[in-house]
Amino acid sequence: MYKAPRGTADVLPADQLYWSHIIQTAEALCRRYGYQRIDTPLFEDAGLFQRSIGAGTDIVEKETYSFEDRSHELLTLRPEGTAPVCRAYLEHGMHVLPQPVKLYYIAPSFRYERPQAGRYRQFHQFGFEALGETDPALDAEVVDMAWQLYRDLGIGRLTVLLNSIGDGQCRPAYIQALAGYYRGLGEQMCHDCQMRLEKNPLRLLDCKQAQCQPLIQAAPKMVDYLCLECRDHFARVERYLGLLGVPYQIEHRLVRGLDYYTRTVFEVVPAGGGQQSTVGAGGRYDGLIEQLGGRPTPGIGFAAGVERMVLNLKRQETVLDDPGRPQVYLAYHGDAAKEAAVRLARQLWDAGVNTTLAVGDRSLRAQLRHANTLNAAHAAVIGEDEVAQATVTLRHLETGEQETVPQADLAARLGGR
Ligand code: ATP
Ligand code: MG
Repeated sequence: MYKAPRGTADVLPADQLYWSHIIQTAEALCRRYGYQRIDTPLFEDAGLFQRSIGAGTDIVEKETYSFEDRSHELLTLRPEGTAPVCRAYLEHGMHVLPQPVKLYYIAPSFRYERPQAGRYRQFHQFGFEALGETDPALDAEVVDMAWQLYRDLGIGRLTVLLNSIGDGQCRPAYIQALAGYYRGLGEQMCHDCQMRLEKNPLRLLDCKQAQCQPLIQAAPKMVDYLCLECRDHFARVERYLGLLGVPYQIEHRLVRGLDYYTRTVFEVVPAGGGQQSTVGAGGRYDGLIEQLGGRPTPGIGFAAGVERMVLNLKRQETVLDDPGRPQVYLAYHGDAAKEAAVRLARQLWDAGVNTTLAVGDRSLRAQLRHANTLNAAHAAVIGEDEVAQATVTLRHLETGEQETVPQADLAARLGGR
């Protein structure tokens, strides 16, 4: 028997309610803040991610699905959405549009990771990006949007963690200090961190190993190294966040797993913490577009894992309305009643009423059981009497109340158009 590949999952009908709730909420949010949808290919030139995300990152070193196609092009399944959006911005000359250009996406992403709850090899990201503007008010707006996303979804008990990781001017001195501190620690850090120290010291702060946590706690802080411009930018982000009323917590150790971030970085995490718990993350990436060969163009964005939002909605036992719930289940007894039911089904479907027509000539009792397991709101029962009088017996399945309704009035009675 075949199974879905390790780290992938089928989204079964029972989960689709959560998915559509998330997608609809995300799209409404984007409309409210003036973002437009973009869809980019599932795979890109492998170089795009190497250039953008950067060597020495977990994603590029260990997590990409890369392959050569039949004409020996090296391609990579998209591990994240920001680099493809920036590639599209450049490819389509979007710098001529009014800036910032505000784009969002909802797309499958692929990372070869160790699968666990909330961590998959194929997962989905909802993300948005604002390109072409450095104003710290935009940083605050993006953080606000991320925060509102979870409020709109009804996911509670979250915290926004905020930090600045400086820019090309001030970060080198910080990285030097950080590397110096880690070099003094010798064997205390994990094996991966020894590699990070050589290749990408900032990533040391991002380590998930327990043994490295106290080392991270005692490490030098980026804020103490910010240059004047970065310090001013950070202060203004904080000021606008205050005006927007977004609660946040400064987290000095917050860095992002990707190389292209500058200044503002933030994450949304459950108040309780825990691994695989980051529900979404973002930041400013003023260096990225230039790194991809464009003119220097600032950008800021955010991405959230859809599966982790589903997980949180389930954990807090959110109940969602099912728009696909049958409004009425048409049950019948006898051949003449079945023909009446088929005719009624035609009318109800035309009137836009969710209708399930009993099939398979089961007993009336079995049909009503079926109606209950489908969670139908009503059952309309047609027997000999109802055929003779052109009515149905309409039963409200939750309360058990019954009434006789003329067949001609049923659609209107059920709110049909
Ligand atoms: P983590 O620290 O959990 O590995 P990350 O820093 O790699 O996350 P990002 O690259 O910032 O994550 O991706 C943004 C969001 O996408 C994450 O906050 C998370 O919700 C989700 N995400 C990332 N990787 C996965 C995965 N393998 N499976 C499911 N969701 C994921
Ligand atoms: Mg990761």
